[in-house]
Amino acid sequence: MSVDGTVDLAVIGGGSAGVRCARVAASLGAKVVLFEDAALGGTCVNLGCIPKKLLAYGAHVAEEIGDAVGMGWTIGQTHFDWGVLVQRKDAEIARLNLAYEKLLRDAGVEIVRARATIEGGEGALTVRAGGRALAARHVVIATGGTPRRPPIPGAELASVSDDFFHWPTLPRSIAIVGAGYIAVEIASVLAALGVEVDLLARRCALSGFDPDVSLALAKGLARHGIRVHERWGEATSIVRHGERLVIDNAAGERVEAERVLLAIGRDPHVRGFGLEALGVETKGGAIAVDERFATSVAGLYAIGDVIARRELTPVALAEGTLLAHSLFGDGGHAIAYELAPTAVFSMPPVASVGWSEPVARGRLGEVRIFRTTFRPLKHRLTGSDVQTMMKIVVDGVTDRVVGIHVVGDDAPEIIQGFAVALQVGVTKAQLDRTIGVHPTAAEELVTMRTPVT
Ligand code: NDP
Repeated sequence: MSVDGTVDLAVIGGGSAGVRCARVAASLGAKVVLFEDAALGGTCVNLGCIPKKLLAYGAHVAEEIGDAVGMGWTIGQTHFDWGVLVQRKDAEIARLNLAYEKLLRDAGVEIVRARATIEGGEGALTVRAGGRALAARHVVIATGGTPRRPPIPGAELASVSDDFFHWPTLPRSIAIVGAGYIAVEIASVLAALGVEVDLLARRCALSGFDPDVSLALAKGLARHGIRVHERWGEATSIVRHGERLVIDNAAGERVEAERVLLAIGRDPHVRGFGLEALGVETKGGAIAVDERFATSVAGLYAIGDVIARRELTPVALAEGTLLAHSLFGDGGHAIAYELAPTAVFSMPPVASVGWSEPVARGRLGEVRIFRTTFRPLKHRLTGSDVQTMMKIVVDGVTDRVVGIHVVGDDAPEIIQGFAVALQVGVTKAQLDRTIGVHPTAAEELVTMRTPVT
């Protein structure tokens, strides 16, 4: 097979994982080509973290306006224009797309704006795209994931998160199927903007988190007017009735709304790249890799959401960095997946690092739990009964802190520093010796003295 050239590394996919891997590999002296046929930046920049947070900033102003009244402000007539917010969000995304392109080019990465397919070759894999064929010493699949649709009648009538970011108008009401990250974040944005929201949780809100997080979040969502239907199960059909969509579950319960959003997880994007013909092994729909991201095919690696270890941007970045260092640098440092902090930008926001109480109880002989729920100082003025919940999970034998969970204002900002503490193995005694910052909510995490269990 004739090829048009040889590269050290071909990266398929220009999202967080692929871009980081390409840039670091190029900075280590590798000849790198990156293939992407859509906007650079992947899900995070285009259809995920960044646009979500921008829309949340815009939506949550409504809450601040409400709070202002309690603090002596007279607010006149207010008006919100969804179109303006979406337009401003799109302008920022366009700026980021260009910034990503510049970062890659400045690092010396060649960008090919075409969809690539991989073929086996003698000694090296060949990547075809845009009429060219390149032999690559190493190929990285970093193709991310796409929103999942359940195989039920009428699923095509519903939106998924990709659609939400480009809705031309807001609905008056929405039913959201699922109660994970995407569901609670979008529910919060929409409820803040006055949309009537039904959240259809198969089990409970954020079921993968600590149960006290789920509980505090459900109360917080309800306080914002979101109807949280716990243990609603799975939708069995979606049917259009005039202007409205009707969703049924197996128990015959029915919810109606102007729009339906499906937010039931994301599927790794594995089709259309030639992986089946190469015989790449998958596990649960994701590409199976070893601890250094090698797939079952020599020379082929996979990182980011397509391996579905933890579908979080900073994890994808860490995987991209580690793979580049394993292939072209000093080997890099193993990723502490379990200590990756995570935040959900819901109303109220959630942030966690480490183990939930059930995980800790399953793994440790003795567990001590510290928990507090309080009304933040600001809300003594606003009159709102908003609550903050903080929880510390401690190994009862070693005193090591194994989990911290926060639901409430500034939770994502608070957790980052505590993630460092967990990374270096902080003990509860060390938290107790740490001087607080007063008056803040965060100081509660260093002043809880009495275990609840
Ligand atoms: P999640 O895995 O977070 O949540 C999926 C939700 O859908 C759960 O409530 C789950 O219920 C429910 N569910 C699954 N299958 C069905 C079904 N057939 N019928 C009804 N409900 C169902 O997925 P998301 O789509 O919200 O997000 C995907 C991933 O993207 C997240 O896991 C996260 O890693 C990442 N993400 C991160 C964000 C952040 O960092 N802030 C923001 C958005 C996404 P059950 O609880 O019973 O399992």
